[in-house]
Amino acid sequence: MNRWLAGADIGGTRTKIGLVDKETLEVAGLEVFPTEKYDRDIFMEQFLGAVERVCRKCSVSREELAGIGIGIGSYVFEPGGIVDSTWGYIPCLDGVALGDEVEKRLGISCAVDNDLRAIALAESRIGAGKEYSRVLSITLGTGVGVCLTVDGKFVEKEAVTHLAGHIMVRGKGEWVESLDQKGCYCPIFGCMENTCSATALEKMAREMVAPDIDNIQLFRLAREGRKEAKECLQFFFDCLLRGLNQMVYIFSPDVIVLGGGITKGFGPYGEELGKGIKARVHSRQRPELSISRLEENSGIIGAALLWLVEK
Ligand SMILES: [Zn+2]
Repeated sequence: MNRWLAGADIGGTRTKIGLVDKETLEVAGLEVFPTEKYDRDIFMEQFLGAVERVCRKCSVSREELAGIGIGIGSYVFEPGGIVDSTWGYIPCLDGVALGDEVEKRLGISCAVDNDLRAIALAESRIGAGKEYSRVLSITLGTGVGVCLTVDGKFVEKEAVTHLAGHIMVRGKGEWVESLDQKGCYCPIFGCMENTCSATALEKMAREMVAPDIDNIQLFRLAREGRKEAKECLQFFFDCLLRGLNQMVYIFSPDVIVLGGGITKGFGPYGEELGKGIKARVHSRQRPELSISRLEENSGIIGAALLWLVEK
């Protein structure tokens, strides 16, 4: 009975919902749809409709669902799972008690938290961090998200360090024009998010290599030996390394797990990055670097884990 959890990963672009087996953490019956950002009624209708569809696909009745976990790209206030969409990713949910609303509409218990916290739980329990105590998950996606777990648990009850990716990694006079035309929403010039996110890398590549290039093509050109592509990636990795070394002093991790789609292309650069982490909090410390091995569904599994640790 109640073997299943629903897991939802609400991003600024796409929302993914699946059922997760509570014991094995395997995902079944995936639904993916574009996130409605501006109309709350449409968003809720699409969200609840997708939960129904995913249950139907797997022949699981709502009564058989133990609960639902939601990871969302925002700060989340408790109690009630109130979404703080300060930076405007999903404006229609700003101030909405999403946890309470979903509980009321579905009649099952709901846990809501920041999406990077959900991924950090997955990394520390079933991913590259599972053999370590202090696991720092850093996700390079649209932005740069940061979360520390210790022994598979959160250090703080709510997200407080998820924006640590706004530390400075690039000085004035060391800039790529396209990154600084609009800058970041934070007040820190040359921050890691505006330099080392997947979005920032693509902007850099379009200025330094070719105007219509994407990150996959950039890594391919570098492997083929194209000078501009190699220089662009070198700059990117130099800046990333500055950020990772600072993270050691801030969080003192046993391992840093780097995730996000672009890390799949890192290859030999990943090894170089690991060697470049020289920061040490004490003489016996050897912070390691690992590239995430979790697949696309890590956000859904993480969301289910959120429910398991909170309920
Ligand atoms: Zn920033």
